[in-house]
Amino acid sequence: MTRCPECDTEIDLDEDEVEEGEIVGCPECDAELEVTQTHPVHLIKISEDDDDDDEDEEEESSAEKEDEEEDEEEEDGERDLENPDEDE
Ligand SMILES: [Zn+2]
Repeated sequence: MTRCPECDTEIDLDEDEVEEGEIVGCPECDAELEVTQTHPVHLIKISEDDDDDDEDEEEESSAEKEDEEEDEEEEDGERDLENPDEDE
């Protein structure tokens, strides 16, 4: 009897039915387990490091700030209070 290394559930795998390198799923915790040896069957959990490659649905929509109402014409005058080029 093999146990899931993740949740310790007994997994009924026949060592004659699996091969080394085969991926099986734990019926209990849904982990992906790789068969590393078959006599007896030994399983390791395949680490699924959060791939940033698969799902990129979030494309930083926070950068989508269109300040439409901030463009009102309220900037009358007072823009050259101090002349930046007072060279002469
Ligand atoms: Zn499990």
